[in-house]
Amino acid sequence: MKQVSWRIMKNEKGSVIIIVAAAMVLLLGIAALVVDVGVLFYNKVALSNAADAAALAGVQELPHDHTKARETAEAYAVSNGVETGQVLAEVLPDGRSIRVATSRVVPLGFARILGFYSTKVTADAKASVGSTKGLQGAAPFGVVEDDFVFGEIYTMKYSPRDSDETGSGNFGALALGARGADNYLNNIKNGYSGRLEVGDEIPTILETEPGNMAGPTRTGVDFRIAECDHEPKCTCDRFVKGCSRLLLVPIIDSLDVTGRNGVVLTGFAAFFVEEVAGVGNVCQVTGRFVRRAADGDLGNINDYGVVSYRLDS
Ligand SMILES: [Zn+2]
Repeated sequence: MKQVSWRIMKNEKGSVIIIVAAAMVLLLGIAALVVDVGVLFYNKVALSNAADAAALAGVQELPHDHTKARETAEAYAVSNGVETGQVLAEVLPDGRSIRVATSRVVPLGFARILGFYSTKVTADAKASVGSTKGLQGAAPFGVVEDDFVFGEIYTMKYSPRDSDETGSGNFGALALGARGADNYLNNIKNGYSGRLEVGDEIPTILETEPGNMAGPTRTGVDFRIAECDHEPKCTCDRFVKGCSRLLLVPIIDSLDVTGRNGVVLTGFAAFFVEEVAGVGNVCQVTGRFVRRAADGDLGNINDYGVVSYRLDS
């Protein structure tokens, strides 16, 4: 042994070969790392995007159709480059969320030198359908929480004559964004331009607009009704998307306050405005209940944007 190593040491050519060979292994190892990590990263991103797209596509079918939600999600994943059989979509027990798990076996290049031929890359995504947390364009009426029934008539703004037994001065009008009749009228005509959000932990307080506000109420609601020039005329069970007679109304906990005061926003509902009734000091606005934004059975509520979808990270 002693003699052999001595001979190698003496032979410069031999030692260079050993050093080069050792360096090659090291270099190839680094190359393996760099190239293969790049390939894996690329696949992870592609898979992740496919999973996100699939979850968002599938969640559109929730909470109504679990089977279709799964099928849609899986079809989207496949059309985004995930192999059939490498995607699994499942609707979670809450019925409002879908999780999409994707995977792909990625063959490795340089890492083969080190004995690694392939590896499995996975990516998950989850999306939920929410009761609407927030929306723009709300009408400035507060309807008190109730077990609303489709097609039934509800009062959105009371007349002093039938509601002011307590002398509270509140008839259902809300001061959204600003106080006063002009702003109130503008909010009836065009919907409140700001965004209202239901508070998660801290409740959202809306301010009431006390007073009968007969003039602006009449003008505003008549305007909304006249703006519907659809033929045949819209009704609560057959209306054109975005019809002016569809009012998105804040649902509030109670109207049992005195003067200009705060009420808690608990959700949103869509009402099809029927009429503004009364003359003089009698002024009542009624509408037929169409859908509740926080309901589990919303039908096609996304037709007018009361439902939100989100990707959960
Ligand atoms: Zn209409």
